[in-house]
Parts: sequence; C-alpha cells; structure tokens
Amino acid sequence: MSLLSVLKFPDNRLRLKAKKVEQVDQNIQSLASDMLETMYHQHGIGLAATQVNQQISLIVIDASENRDQSKVIINPKITKKSGDSLYQEGCLSVPGIFAEVKRSQEIDLEYTTLENIIKTDSFDGLTAICIQHEIDHLEGILFIDYLEPHKLKQVKELISSNRANPNAHIQVE
Ligand code: ZN
Repeated sequence: MSLLSVLKFPDNRLRLKAKKVEQVDQNIQSLASDMLETMYHQHGIGLAATQVNQQISLIVIDASENRDQSKVIINPKITKKSGDSLYQEGCLSVPGIFAEVKRSQEIDLEYTTLENIIKTDSFDGLTAICIQHEIDHLEGILFIDYLEPHKLKQVKELISSNRANPNAHIQVE
C-alpha cells in the first residue's frame, strides 16, 4: 500500500471525466486500497479516483464515526433520489474550505463491488451526501461549483492568497 498525492483546486485535471471500469482486476484492487489509505491518512470521508489523477469510475468512502466502515464503489449510478438535505461539505482537493451544499437525503445506488458483483443499495444521511459528492468528482464537478458567485469568489481569493490550508477551517457563508 502507498499514499497517493491528491490534486488540489484549481488543477484542471479535477475537471476530467472518469471512464467506466470494464474489469475489476488487481490494478483496480490495488488502487482502491491505496485510495483508502490516502483517505484515512488525510482524515477524509471519501475520495474519488479523479482526485488522485486516475480517470476511472471508482470511489472509496467511510462516513462512519469509528472509521471502520470502508466501502469501495465502482461504476456508481444513482437510480433514485429523494428528499433534501443541507450539509457543510469540505473536500481534500479544496483543503480548509467548508460550505453548505444542497443534496438529496436518500439515494438508490447501482454499483459494482471489488468482488465484481453488481449491487443496488439504498443510502441516506452523511453516507448519501458523501457518495453524491464523490460521484460529482467523477464528472469533473467540485462542491464549490454549487456556490453562489460571491461565495465562489471568496473561495478563490482565499485559495490564491494561501489563507486556506488543511489546518484552517474556513466556513464560506
Ligand atoms: Zn471532494
């Protein structure tokens, strides 16, 4: 296992779209395990392959309190959404910045597991929010894209002035 480096906004590679995984092989398994290690190391609750400069449809998450519910999700597709939730999100690619984003409260997700099995599961709460955030990464979308223009401007200023860093916790409102 090894730690991977995470692309940071405004790196254009964060805008690339992921390709479908055709076969879950050893390369995918090894990437997933490196991504999990990187996610835990950086205290994130999710990481998309896009963020480690791999344009494939693969995300890892763990939104549990005890950090012991890791999940590898391949080729995710949301088949149903319901309810609204508002949650203050952050992102390992936009370190130090936090802002509220509106997502669906519950989702049905079709995906492939590391064992190459296609499943459909329902998720809600923080796990559902995290999955929606990570799927966005696979499409080249960042959570700050949802902010109103004046808030986005604030984020860009914070990043270019280097006031935002992993140890800061700047809430954009
Ligand atoms: Zn993110």
